[in-house]
Amino acid sequence: MESFDVLIVGAGLSGIGAAWHLQDKCKGKSYAILEARDAIGGTWDLFRYPGIRSDSDMFTLGYNFRPWTESKAIADGPDIRRYVNETAREAGIDKKIRFGHKVSHASFDSHTGRWTITARTADGERTFSCGMLLMAAGYYSYDNPYNPHFEGEDSFKGTIFHAQHWPEQLDYSGKRMVVIGSGATAVTIVPVVAQKTAHVTMLQRSPTWMVSRPATDKVANFFRSVLPDMWAYNLIRFRNVVMQNFVFKQARTNPAKVNARMTEMLLKEMPAETVNAHFQPSYNVWDQRLCLVPDSDFFKAVNAGKADVVTDHVDHFDEKGIALKSGKRLDADIIVKATGLRLQVLGGATVDVDGQAATPNSRYVYRGMMLEGIPNLVYVFGYFNASWTLRADLTCEFACRLINEMDKRKTPIAIPVRNIDVQDEELLLNSGYVQRALDTLPRQSSTDPWRDTQDYLRDRKSIRNDSLDDGTLQFRPLATASSPVLAEAAE
Ligand SMILES: Cc1cc2nc3c(=O)[nH]c(=O)nc-3n(C[C@H](O)[C@H](O)[C@H](O)COP(=O)(O)OP(=O)(O)OC[C@H]3O[C@@H](n4cnc5c(N)ncnc54)[C@H](O)[C@@H]3O)c2cc1C
Repeated sequence: MESFDVLIVGAGLSGIGAAWHLQDKCKGKSYAILEARDAIGGTWDLFRYPGIRSDSDMFTLGYNFRPWTESKAIADGPDIRRYVNETAREAGIDKKIRFGHKVSHASFDSHTGRWTITARTADGERTFSCGMLLMAAGYYSYDNPYNPHFEGEDSFKGTIFHAQHWPEQLDYSGKRMVVIGSGATAVTIVPVVAQKTAHVTMLQRSPTWMVSRPATDKVANFFRSVLPDMWAYNLIRFRNVVMQNFVFKQARTNPAKVNARMTEMLLKEMPAETVNAHFQPSYNVWDQRLCLVPDSDFFKAVNAGKADVVTDHVDHFDEKGIALKSGKRLDADIIVKATGLRLQVLGGATVDVDGQAATPNSRYVYRGMMLEGIPNLVYVFGYFNASWTLRADLTCEFACRLINEMDKRKTPIAIPVRNIDVQDEELLLNSGYVQRALDTLPRQSSTDPWRDTQDYLRDRKSIRNDSLDDGTLQFRPLATASSPVLAEAAE
């Protein structure tokens, strides 16, 4: 069995970032990355639908240690993939990746203070050992997207697939396409395919809040022309963080005002009857992630008549297309299900501590980075209300602080132990994919540190500076006859 100080699971944006921070802050630690797929990039390699792009700006979705230097702030998928790949290659991280290793189980032994990790490979199971486990496995299932089966779906004679598995060779020129869904994926696909299809319809059950932003940030590009890359990057990053934070807080404290402002902006993009019929959600702005429309591309496609939006429900499918509950129908050659993701915790791996199953959904999150009763495991989970990487960077910095602190104290085990009663609190966002997965997610409370604050500016201070001696995170020796195993804390 191969042994490492640290194992990172996942070679996406977060896993590559984690390796970079580890190399930078915990010099000399041995590590490897176990990656289920055969490529670096995670999300930005998996998703191949036309127009795949970020829906937040790259000044905040980029790493805090590497400036984003492309001209577009709302970046195309291939550019993000290249950014992650280049980061890995330049730092030599690519050499540490074991591709085709899907982690299925992690088992902690408090007599040795080490994890045994089981990974499935094409040649059977392999095991590894490590002291610290850094889970950077993203938040959704790569194999099983949310793919509801509609009545009569099998009788449809055209092409049908889920957007997460877009067929590479698909020719949609001159075809009639229906995209089911109203989230970021549908809103990205529709204006791009509209350039070639005979017609494309976005079929939504209910509207989503959308806002247009320029794909290219002129102010940022000006700063970049006069300042060194990293200075300009940090400046724009800070501006964007403050702006996003302001809008989110306004939406929470004064939702009616923010809803009205968003509607005003939509009315500048499209006729009032279109806005009223299809763009007035029943929820408040930022109760779900705000959907970005770069350079108004989606609105332009609708205004030009190349695309339309239908708000209705699928009754059933037939040979030619979709019969709707209203009695209308949508005939199609191609139907794309942009119905969303299926959330997944810890990359779908199971965990035990001293032989006792340790399920995430029975535990509170510790600072949104560790789980109560599970030692030596840090997981990366980004923000819902801001770019993922803002939190991924902070989490990896925290993991490095923790590793160094354990070395300093010569204690092989660090475990968050909850010694107070706390009240469950609902998650901040009510998006469908979050609601569907509530029973699998770790618990949140309203009491620090047993919650994920979703507040970058607050986290930046506390995660970097708060003492690790917070009365909750316990540094322990190995289990012996006089020092009990951790199982009792685990379940
Ligand atoms: C289409 C789309 C667009 C998005 N746009 C944005 C955006 O604009 N801004 C934003 O902030 N967020 C966005 N997100 C969220 C996005 O996923 C994150 O920004 C970021 O890419 C997550 O990186 P990650 O490395 O944590 O996870 P992922 O990109 O999901 O990578 C996880 C990696 O872990 C591997 N893995 C998973 N389980 C295992 C296992 N058991 N064993 C081994 N390896 C495993 C996977 O194969 C994958 O390579 C978007 C998500 C999607 C789906």
